[in-house]
Amino acid sequence: MKAITLHGPGDVRVESVPDPRIVDPTDAVLRITTSAVCGSDLHQYHGRVAGLDPGVVMGHEFMGIVEETGPAVRQLRKGDRVIAPFSISCGFCEWCRMRLPTQCATTGRAVFGGRFGKQYPGGQAEAIRVPFADHMCEKVPAGMTDEQVFFLGDILSTGYVCAENAGIRPGDTVAIFGAGPVGLLALQSVHLFGPSRVFMVDRVDYRLKLAEELGAVPVNLDRSDPAEQLRAQTRGRGPDAVLECVGQEAPFTQAIQSVRAGGTVSSVGVYVESSMGFPARDAFFKDLTLRMGICNARNFISPLMPLIQAGRLQPTRIITHTMPLTETPKGYAIFDRKEDRAIKVMLKP
Ligand code: NAD
Ligand code: ZN
Repeated sequence: MKAITLHGPGDVRVESVPDPRIVDPTDAVLRITTSAVCGSDLHQYHGRVAGLDPGVVMGHEFMGIVEETGPAVRQLRKGDRVIAPFSISCGFCEWCRMRLPTQCATTGRAVFGGRFGKQYPGGQAEAIRVPFADHMCEKVPAGMTDEQVFFLGDILSTGYVCAENAGIRPGDTVAIFGAGPVGLLALQSVHLFGPSRVFMVDRVDYRLKLAEELGAVPVNLDRSDPAEQLRAQTRGRGPDAVLECVGQEAPFTQAIQSVRAGGTVSSVGVYVESSMGFPARDAFFKDLTLRMGICNARNFISPLMPLIQAGRLQPTRIITHTMPLTETPKGYAIFDRKEDRAIKVMLKP
């Protein structure tokens, strides 16, 4: 089959790789109908992630149709349309029973197309092997398009958990750092909690423009220090909650510097380096609450589905490009360089 492989920084290729097959009795093989390029793929694309096998099949955002099931799979059959989360979990280990599937002991915290735990090929491909398929796959309700449900497997669940962890109460002011796909879906989720005003911080004007259309006040960080801009717009106090959706030291620091005393910083950006600076004194004297971490997306797929069906979450608004899988290298390039007004690039095998 055709798949997208990574060979070094900036070097993604369309290659022929062996077809996936059933290895364990609990596996399913899906024929992929839609996949996408994620901001987390960019960390690998930039060469910031050590220990990846050369030629790894990329991608952890995908959905598809069950083609084959192992003998122990009970709840799925050939032809079922399903979505799976980006991290691979067994559903029965101690961590999975604590509803922390990203910590799964059985798979060693594996992520499709990533580097933790066991290596599993990713979903920027024509087909994929999904382990523990009964636990991993959620059937898609009839009448919903791929694009409507797709982001539940990763970035909508991530944006939602970022908002939920921020402890937003009705009337609060909120700021979000990063108007990429994750930040824009966090913005949609923030509105579910009844804030009075939401600020979106980025430097890319076309992304800030979509944030404005989705109900945010744009803050361009190249104009002046974003923490100062946010204080100036909140009577000098700073927002009640600040969400970090970038995954770099600068916005993480600025989130802590800008939140009001006693406020909450909620961070979902992926920090791929093992350590970075932390403004400990600011955080301490502000009495702030900090929440951060990887998203246990498996837990959110079915609870968030009705919010999409009701139109209260409209994840398709962030899609700017849909291209054939064979054009994926161009998809990476425009998403990375923010060319052609790219926000979310979808791939069709
Ligand atoms: P993206 O790269 O498209 O978005 C990042 C945005 O941040 C860009 O628009 C960029 O212009 C902006 N930015 C850069 N520096 C900034 C700064 N100092 N202040 C404000 N904005 C700044 O990527 P994305 O797909 O939206 O992903 C965002 C982050 O979320 C990535 O780190 C990704 O790895 C992470 N992520 C985490 C999880 C999780 O489970 N926690 C899941 C998915 C993605
Ligand atoms: Zn992702």
